[in-house]
Amino acid sequence: MYISIDLGGTSTRVASSKDLISLHKLERFPTNKELVVEKKLLNNAIAKVIEGETVDFVCVGVPGMVDRYARTFEKIVNYPELTGKSYEVLFDITIPNSKIVIENDAALAGLAESRRGVAAKSRVVAYLTLSTGFGGVRIQDKQISRIQGNFEPGHMIIVEDGREDSVCGQKGCAHSYLSGVAFKEIYGMEPFDCKDPKVWNEYGEKMATVITNVVAMWDPGVIVLGGSIATRFEMFEPAMHDALYTQSLFDMPKILKSEMGDVNGVWGGFDLISQIQNS
Ligand SMILES: [Zn+2]
Repeated sequence: MYISIDLGGTSTRVASSKDLISLHKLERFPTNKELVVEKKLLNNAIAKVIEGETVDFVCVGVPGMVDRYARTFEKIVNYPELTGKSYEVLFDITIPNSKIVIENDAALAGLAESRRGVAAKSRVVAYLTLSTGFGGVRIQDKQISRIQGNFEPGHMIIVEDGREDSVCGQKGCAHSYLSGVAFKEIYGMEPFDCKDPKVWNEYGEKMATVITNVVAMWDPGVIVLGGSIATRFEMFEPAMHDALYTQSLFDMPKILKSEMGDVNGVWGGFDLISQIQNS
């Protein structure tokens, strides 16, 4: 049995698959900020989805930095105490470290979008996740680009000397304006509760700056927006569209809303395991 886990900032999703093509069982629960509690909830969910079967391989998606060539955790945003620890520490059942892969959560979601989602026909895909955090990845030929760590488009500066970001410490990065955390701080409400067009116009204009930078640096054939805030795509898309077409240099790629929902990360985990096993 294969397991794919998405340790999101707000919710944790745990899925199993027998063939890496179809989903066997899925469990989800609110992510707990205490690592000890989260570990317990995680292992309970694993027991439910594997139903007593042996685990062949596990993929874990995490928000934060990933070193693909190390076998220990790097800077995981929610659980700094994991830094430097071996992957096995997450599990109560014995799983050899060689059968565990850790990947950035946005990278996994982007991989799934490029293989199964709305971007399945494009060679170069930029995936941006607008969720509790703001992440993203460049996928080329249905592979996560082979860089040492991971892309962090959420921490590109979009407003010089702007708001200070709680994650990176920089001023004016995309995360400090467009993440769910920032949205709540700036507008005093959850993105899902917001119906104010002024707010969404502002959001769309800032997204246009991000998109222009992504196009300039990554040259994607399509851009996919995922994560919970992307479900409000129709609210910010008009202002984003208008701002994007104030320039005339770039041919803007299609900008699409993810249709896979919040399980694209776990699907991406199964896709990555499949790629590792076939390489
Ligand atoms: Zn930042």
